[in-house]
Amino acid sequence: MAILGAMTSSLEAADPKIAQLIASESRRQASKLRLIPSENFASAAVLEATGSALTNKYSEGYFGKRYYEGQEFIDQIEEIAIQRAMQLFGSAHANVQPYSGSPANLAAYFAFCEPGDKIMGMHLPSGGHLTHGWKVSITGKFFNAVQYQVDRESGRIDLDQVRDMAMKERPKVLWAGGTAVPRIIDFAAFAGIAKDCGALFFADIAHIAGLIAGGAHPSPVGLADLVSTTTHKTLRGPRGGMLMASAEHANAVDRAVFPGLQGGPHNHTTAAIAVALGEALKPEFKTYAAKIVSNAKALAAQLMHHGFELVSGGTDNHLILIDLSNKSLPGKVLARALDRAGIVTNYNSVPYDTRKPFDPSGLRIGTPSVTTQGMGAGEMVKIADWMHEVAENVEDLGRQERIAGEIRELCASFPAPGVSQN
Ligand SMILES: *Cc1c(COP(=O)(O)O)cnc(C)c1O
Repeated sequence: MAILGAMTSSLEAADPKIAQLIASESRRQASKLRLIPSENFASAAVLEATGSALTNKYSEGYFGKRYYEGQEFIDQIEEIAIQRAMQLFGSAHANVQPYSGSPANLAAYFAFCEPGDKIMGMHLPSGGHLTHGWKVSITGKFFNAVQYQVDRESGRIDLDQVRDMAMKERPKVLWAGGTAVPRIIDFAAFAGIAKDCGALFFADIAHIAGLIAGGAHPSPVGLADLVSTTTHKTLRGPRGGMLMASAEHANAVDRAVFPGLQGGPHNHTTAAIAVALGEALKPEFKTYAAKIVSNAKALAAQLMHHGFELVSGGTDNHLILIDLSNKSLPGKVLARALDRAGIVTNYNSVPYDTRKPFDPSGLRIGTPSVTTQGMGAGEMVKIADWMHEVAENVEDLGRQERIAGEIRELCASFPAPGVSQN
């Protein structure tokens, strides 16, 4: 952490305002329970790589075919990142240059689709991602998107319904994956449906990449024509993206990322991805992935004990989607009260939500960050108890302040890398 201190002090001298704001954000992260399921704490080693001199280098192109000189070290770094990705996920090809998850998905389309092609993904309020054809996204405007929903009763993906829609619509691409999916995704079943309707199968594992890497969720690698992911969610790396594909599609994928969509790769991010993948290859990461899931199950059980209704009735992974309709409490109101009490969540649509996406009925939480801090089942029960207490007293600012103090204390005994309460 010394290097972070050193960097902060040069920043402090050069730009005290920004230095102060970064310190405040670090304190915020160290003092509150971070339950947003797409967030995590990257290791000090990952943070150090992202803040390195690699940010100064241009490297358009790929190993052995760059458009700039001076690549002898960048080439090695990118090669290590690629090799580790292939080893970790068992894929025949990996591209580590996408700037993030959304650009990775755009490159996936660009590799295989023409504007106007029909694509099929999950409806946003059912848990799908914007880039799977949602109407306000470029992917919903440039492609002809059809969308499947989860079953209204079970809150789960209904594979028969997906199959019927796919056979009727015959999309060019079928997506599986999402941002608010609390259950295991049956990638083999999606692969079968895609094959039968003549679609390419794209698996978006942005949320669950770390669980897959750690053996806590089945992998789509080998089943999907293309696998897309972020690197900063459960995978616990820097903000970035990756695409994985079979050898047959390797060229198409690489060409779509560069020169198709992007210019120079973010080399500091590539190095940090390599570091994070190295961490994920260690045996401890399997323990981490399993504990994310056992923590989520413990948290879900205690929330249900308190009368919270969970979409699909629980969780198989890192994520819990709470439907607050039965509490007549909008997601936003509870999220604000929880934040005042030191618990950071995000309000979220629930399937078939009757409220608007910016003022929805749900709350989305998850365990990747608190598990990185080393918290376990005992802490999950406490968190659920606090959430219940806040939900019963959303107007009680004094009570929220008391809880915030208790949470600061709890967090002080579970320090996270790269952040500090001081
Ligand atoms: C987070 C996410 C993305 C987008 O990643 P960004 O890095 O935010 O662009 C894409 N797909 C899914 C399923 C996601 O959860």
